[in-house]
Amino acid sequence: MVKKLTGKFLRDIDKKHVWHPFTQMSEWMEEDFPVISHGKDNYIYDVDGKKYLDGVSSIWCNIHGYANRELNEALRKQMDKISHSTFLGMSNVPAILLAKKLIDILPGELTRVFYSDNGSTAVEVGIKMCLQYWQHTGRPEKQMFVSLRNGYHGDTIGAMSVGGIDLFHSAFKPLLFQSIRVASPYCYRCELGLEYPLCEIACVEEIESIAKNYPGVIAGLVIEPMVQAAGGFIMSPPGYLKRVYEITRKHEILLIADEVATGFMRTGRMFACEHEGVVPDILCISKGLTSGYMPLAATVTGENVFAAFLGRYEEFKSFFHGHTYTGNQLGCSLAIRSIELLTRKKFLNSIAQKIKIFEKGIDKFKKLKHVGEVRNLGLMGGIEIVKRKDTKEPYNLKEKVGIRVCREVRKDNIFLRPLGNVVVLMPPLSITKEEIKHLLDATYNAISKITD
Ligand code: PLP
Repeated sequence: MVKKLTGKFLRDIDKKHVWHPFTQMSEWMEEDFPVISHGKDNYIYDVDGKKYLDGVSSIWCNIHGYANRELNEALRKQMDKISHSTFLGMSNVPAILLAKKLIDILPGELTRVFYSDNGSTAVEVGIKMCLQYWQHTGRPEKQMFVSLRNGYHGDTIGAMSVGGIDLFHSAFKPLLFQSIRVASPYCYRCELGLEYPLCEIACVEEIESIAKNYPGVIAGLVIEPMVQAAGGFIMSPPGYLKRVYEITRKHEILLIADEVATGFMRTGRMFACEHEGVVPDILCISKGLTSGYMPLAATVTGENVFAAFLGRYEEFKSFFHGHTYTGNQLGCSLAIRSIELLTRKKFLNSIAQKIKIFEKGIDKFKKLKHVGEVRNLGLMGGIEIVKRKDTKEPYNLKEKVGIRVCREVRKDNIFLRPLGNVVVLMPPLSITKEEIKHLLDATYNAISKITD
């Protein structure tokens, strides 16, 4: 007899045999979580027949919605040719064409694409590339990295080493290499107790003094440009990124921009660095690269970094890094199609219109008694909920306010996932204007209700 795949049946197996990421499993095993069976446009559907508008793009990666006809077609076409062949000793058609496509949309002279599998590996590659670059250019003493508090670059060892979220990383400290942490540009809770713009972005001076205190030994600075995503959708003030960039130029530090969350029009520009006219030395992308269909990442750099790795075989200057699925054809063919859809004039215009509606709508959340700050850039929005607005006193995380808001909004058929006390809104770029309204109205009502 074939068992019917009901929610209960599947949940029971999940509870017995599956381990979920960033999840307290003892609570999970008590929960009636949705089990997703399929998706269409901006909705995901569970096996019990419920549907959810995806307000967080499956953790910030979906761009064109689910079961997109054109992406599916690109995938099917590629699958009929070949799904994967090694990138060692041979190349392949989609990986070559994707590199060209990326170079056309990337800022400045970023012309060399190194593929990997996910956001964490994109950053690992960036860090290793940076370190080896200085070895090949006669500066092997340059080994230190600077990174930001509240930064998040993934969960592998290197990415965690430049991460700045203690809750996620402190357990693994014995495994991590040392990196110098500097202030997060978190104006709402300024570490220096200053206020923008009177502060004149004083937090960047810490980077300058570190560069001066450690002359000639800093290899790279790793940053999420414009938005520290997992840190709480913290948006840097205008001028901050440019100043950081200038310091790195002055002190010969490679700037590694992690655009894993912000890339591909999320912030209203193709890449967030473009907001301040910054071209990093190394740029990391993933998530939106395949519109959330498949794991694929790229670390991109310019000819200056690339040239340092050139030489005769016996000099052993190759970049010693690679993965089994480097340059995977299915991922690359999807990414090509996704970028084609993204760069259609009509689609780009529609994003600009949606951003306006989103910005106007999210701004209204400021009125709420327990909303401390509303942060927004493009179609990325973070609403920080506080116990007391006048003192900015946060809710204790144990009160699970963010989680309760997301549970509440689920009653309105919306799926959200918070970052502590920050309610995150980051829908697929394909969201319709009506869906934006529904997302904002339902979230507003849920926050009012839970914090009443
Ligand atoms: N970098 C940033 C800015 C991210 O937001 C994330 C994931 O959220 C990562 C890196 C890690 O990406 P992945 O989860 O694909 O390893």
